[in-house]
Amino acid sequence: MKFYGDYHTHSRHSDGRQSEVDIIAAARRRGLKEVAITDHGPLAAVIGVESASEYSLIRERIDEVGWNEEGLRVLVGAEANIRDLNGTLDIPQSVIEGLDLLIAGMHPYTLPTTLKDAWDLFARNSLRHLGAAQREKAVSANTKACKEAIYQNPDLDILAHPGLFFTVDVQEIAQACVQKEVLFEINCGHEHPDISDIMEAELVGVDFIVNSDSHFEESVGKLDYGVQVVKHLKIDPERVVNLETGGGYSQWGKKMKNCRYS
Ligand SMILES: [Zn+2]
Ligand SMILES: [Zn+2]
Repeated sequence: MKFYGDYHTHSRHSDGRQSEVDIIAAARRRGLKEVAITDHGPLAAVIGVESASEYSLIRERIDEVGWNEEGLRVLVGAEANIRDLNGTLDIPQSVIEGLDLLIAGMHPYTLPTTLKDAWDLFARNSLRHLGAAQREKAVSANTKACKEAIYQNPDLDILAHPGLFFTVDVQEIAQACVQKEVLFEINCGHEHPDISDIMEAELVGVDFIVNSDSHFEESVGKLDYGVQVVKHLKIDPERVVNLETGGGYSQWGKKMKNCRYS
């Protein structure tokens, strides 16, 4: 099973251990046709970019080292943090407009929008061990935050590792993804979601993207977990947008779609 591209990687601008040049070189070695550099949004402690303006620096650097050379297309994107129950992201719309690709996900230690969000979303998750009632509230808050992120951000391409760190109702999330044409990520770095959740999302009818979430050179384009799951569940190749046969970002990127429709 061959992939057209890997659309989720991190450089040293956030918590990756690789430069943009390392990512590009590794993607070439893997024989990918496209790779996206998608550093974490600024409001997650430790892992995020210093400020949202870093993305334009990454773009400049990419242009310097050669956009579109030797058949590899390099995209600049971001993995935004979902901050609250309204699905607010930590990257301003003006910056999003300059990106090729937008991923969003929930991450620990994200700065919440208000103190109430801190309780509803982040504190409650650490209290899950207190019992079923708290757990249920946490799952419903996480699900709402992800769903709102999908509904409120028309440029969103990919929901990263659905349910990782913060358990969600997979069926509800998958339905929102189908409705808003957001790709449901199979994240190989975290080997997440697990096979039963992927099966559930498949039954709802999502389209998948298989990404590495690479933080170091060895794992750029390393998509073994996705291969394993897609084969095991016999997922229709047409439902996995980044297989080699899929034609790449121009076929499924929200910005490309928006151009086509307008
Ligand atoms: Zn993530
Ligand atoms: Zn990531």
